[in-house]
Amino acid sequence: MRREGAMWTYHPDLLATAVPRYTSFPTAAEFGDDVGPADMEHALARVHEDEPVSLYLHIPYCHEICWYCGCNTGAANRAARVATYVQRLGEEVDLVAARLAGRGRVTRIAWGGGSPNALVPAQFDALMHRIRDAFACTHATVSVELDPRGFDWGWAECLARNRVTRASLGVQTFAPHIQHAIGRVQPVEAIACAMGRLRAARIESINFDLMYGLPGQFAADLEETLDIALSMRPERFAVFGYAHVPHLLPRQRRIDATRLPGPAARFALARQAHRHLRDAGYDPIGFDHFAVPQDAIARAARSGTLRRNFQGFTEDQSEVLIGLGASAVSAFPGALLQNEKRAGRYHLCLAKGRLATARGIRRSPGDRRRSAIIEALLCRGEAECTGLSDLSDTRARLACFEERGLLAWAGTRLLLDRSALPYARAVAAAFDPWRAASAARFSSAV
Ligand code: SF4
Repeated sequence: MRREGAMWTYHPDLLATAVPRYTSFPTAAEFGDDVGPADMEHALARVHEDEPVSLYLHIPYCHEICWYCGCNTGAANRAARVATYVQRLGEEVDLVAARLAGRGRVTRIAWGGGSPNALVPAQFDALMHRIRDAFACTHATVSVELDPRGFDWGWAECLARNRVTRASLGVQTFAPHIQHAIGRVQPVEAIACAMGRLRAARIESINFDLMYGLPGQFAADLEETLDIALSMRPERFAVFGYAHVPHLLPRQRRIDATRLPGPAARFALARQAHRHLRDAGYDPIGFDHFAVPQDAIARAARSGTLRRNFQGFTEDQSEVLIGLGASAVSAFPGALLQNEKRAGRYHLCLAKGRLATARGIRRSPGDRRRSAIIEALLCRGEAECTGLSDLSDTRARLACFEERGLLAWAGTRLLLDRSALPYARAVAAAFDPWRAASAARFSSAV
C-alpha cells in the first residue's frame, strides 16, 4: 500500500542530476544503429492473431516553429514536401500492414508531431482511410495532437468525420510576455475558439499541455494561466518543466537563458501547479499528468492499470506500439525500434519499398525486468524488485531518498511516499545501469 505523504519538500541534492523521462526503458539515448529493418520484420512477425496493437503516426511539420520545442519537426512551408511525406507515410502503413498479414487488432491510433494539423484535412482523411483499409481497427480510439493556431472549422469537421475522440492542445502559458519570450504567441481567444470547435466536433477528452520553468515566469503568471485554463475545463492536463538544452536544440538559442527560473523556483512552480490542479478537482496522474476523476486515465490510475509509453502516461494496455513516420519509435516486448529521423532518408527507404527502421535496441529479459520496475514506480508509486542481481547496490543508491522519508522498503518491495512525486524519475534512475555516464543529455527531474 502506498503511504500518504506530506507536502513536497525541496531537496536540491536529490534533483542535482539530470534524468530521463522514462517513456521507455532502455531510453532512446541507448539506441544504436546495430538494428534495422530485419528487426522490425522479426518483431512484426511475432505479433499474435488478436493481439492489441497501438499505432502512432508522426507528422514532422508545423506552420510555426516554437523556440522551446524539442520535437522532431520543421516548417510546413512547402506543400509539395509535405505531400510527398504523406505519400510515403501511406506507403509505410501498407508495408507494415502487409508484414502483419491481418494479425493484430489496432486499439489506438495516435497522431503526433510536430502538428498533425500542419496537414490539410484531405491528407488526414486519406491517411485515415488508408489505415482503416490496411488494419483491423474498427473500434480504435483515435487521438490527435493539435496546434490551436491552425485549428479551424475545416479541421474540426475533419476530426468529427474521422471519429477522433481525443485531442491535445499545445497551450504552454497564457502570459503574453512569456509567449513572446518562447516564440509562441497565441491569445486566450484562440484557445477558447479551438475548445469550442473541439466540443462541437464531439471530442470527449481534451488535454492541455502547460509548461513551467519558462523565461520570466513567476508564480503569479502560472496562477493566472492555470485559472484561465481551468475555466475552459479540459479533461486532462500535462504539465512539463521546460528543458533548456540549446547545445542539443539550436532553436532554443533564441530563448534568453538569463531569465529562466533557477532550480528552487522551478520546484516551487511545479509544486504550485500540482496543488492548484489537485485543489481544482483533478486527480494527479503519475508525476506530470492530471485528469478529471471520470476520465479514462484517472480510472486507470485508480485501478492500478496506468501505463507509460512514448506518449507519456496512458491507460493503453498494448504491449505492441508501432510508430510510423520519420523518427517514430516502435515498442515491442523484445525491442525498441526507431525510424530514420531525417525526412529525406525516411523518403529514400520508403521509395525503395523498405521499412525505415534505423536505430534501436534489443531488450534482454533483464532490460524488461528493469523496464517493468521503472514503469511500476512511475505509474503506481511502488514496485516489486525481486530478481535484480544488483538490488543491494540499488538499495544503497536509494539510501539518500530513504533517509528523507521519500521511500520505504517492505522486503524487496519499494514504496514511494506521496511526497516523493517530484523525485520519482530520480528514484527510477537508480534502476538504470546506463545513467551514470550520460546525465548531460537529459532534463532536470523537476
Ligand atoms: S507547434 Fe508544437 S511541435 Fe510545433 S514547433 Fe511548436 S511546440 Fe513544437
